[in-house]
Amino acid sequence: MGTMICTKDAVEATELVLESYEYEEGILLHNVPAYECPVCGEFIFTEAQVDEMEQKTDMMKSEMLAFERKVTVSGRSLVINIPEDLVRHMNIAKGQKVRIMPAGKRKFVVEAPDS
Ligand SMILES: [Zn+2]
Repeated sequence: MGTMICTKDAVEATELVLESYEYEEGILLHNVPAYECPVCGEFIFTEAQVDEMEQKTDMMKSEMLAFERKVTVSGRSLVINIPEDLVRHMNIAKGQKVRIMPAGKRKFVVEAPDS
């Protein structure tokens, strides 16, 4: 790996693995590779490290928002209720149109409009 410099202190940062780190508030990542400035103690990340943290955070968010629901019936239509957390995450509201696309035989994707 290359060297990382703390721009504030102009010293070389030390490579380490953080036991846990919140790249995004409330989403705890484990064993995160990073660099630490020996002077100010600030963590510095390479672009690749940031990309990986972003990916892991997204994956964890998806898992946190995944849900299981029974299919119910309304009139002649089948209905799946969407949990509130996911509604908030996707920023969808009553009356809004969403796009539903099959993704193979056992999956479909619900896409909220651009806001
Ligand atoms: Zn520093």
